[in-house]
Amino acid sequence: MTDNSNTNTATSDFGNFVQTFQIEDLDVRGRLVRIEDSFWEAVQAHDYPPLLTRLIGETMVLATVLGTALKFDGIFTLQVQGDGPVSLLIADVTSDGALRACAKLREGTELPEVGPGEVSIPQLLGAGHMAMTVDQGPDMERYQGITEINGATLAECAQNYFRQSEQLDTAIAIVSGLDNKAGKPRAAGLMVQRLPGAADGDNEQEAWRRAVVLMSSIRADELLDDKLSASKILYRLYHEDGVRLFDQRIVHHECRCSEERVRRTILSFPKDEVMDMMEDGQISVTCEFCGNDYVYYEAGLEAMYHEIAMHPTDT
Ligand SMILES: [Zn+2]
Repeated sequence: MTDNSNTNTATSDFGNFVQTFQIEDLDVRGRLVRIEDSFWEAVQAHDYPPLLTRLIGETMVLATVLGTALKFDGIFTLQVQGDGPVSLLIADVTSDGALRACAKLREGTELPEVGPGEVSIPQLLGAGHMAMTVDQGPDMERYQGITEINGATLAECAQNYFRQSEQLDTAIAIVSGLDNKAGKPRAAGLMVQRLPGAADGDNEQEAWRRAVVLMSSIRADELLDDKLSASKILYRLYHEDGVRLFDQRIVHHECRCSEERVRRTILSFPKDEVMDMMEDGQISVTCEFCGNDYVYYEAGLEAMYHEIAMHPTDT
């Protein structure tokens, strides 16, 4: 008899979803996000240090929390760039729920080996900015919100952005953990936000404070506990305030790289430059998100350039 309960393939009830909710009596809406398989698939092809893996989970949760709040048809990207040891965190989510992420360490730097919550975003990312972009294709205007890195956590940076740039009271909690019985990383986030345009008297401010205090009463291990469903968590927190749950939206890991896109990128460079970059008669392009390798040989490149010389309008 073998016990398979501890292998990587074990599935849990944790899920990969966005649960939108509204708290009627408090004029607050919110979202609870959980990712497990989608998180694991985004990092498994990389050799990220544990601390960076955790940060990527937080970035994916935050991108999902923010991106799924907007009505759009396209891609929402959250990008955090700094001059510290972690130079880049990026996660994007499409309106179909396809999620991917990657991160970059500055060359020659090492991350401290510390536990969750022991190191702040300014220590890891230094000075820099957080940008949120909505891309709805070439015919639509791009929306971009940008803010300086200002906060001890990614969640705090986003909260500050909403307060300052959007004048929207927002509270966000994000946890990202590495160890659990299924052997996969998992991350979760909870966000509450005041409904825009609501009145702002003493009662409304008190209601908002109550929503935030209740939200902060949830513990990190509870947010990451697959025995606690989203509805259990939300009813436990807000059952006295008329919480209403909407349909869950599933998210999944999916990269948008393709041979076609890589070829277009290569062809956007002059032929001489591309040929100069060849090593051992080939060029290998690795997708920074999913780790897929695209390899081009000299004869293939010659043919590609020959093709666009013949049909310049096709690319
Ligand atoms: Zn890819």
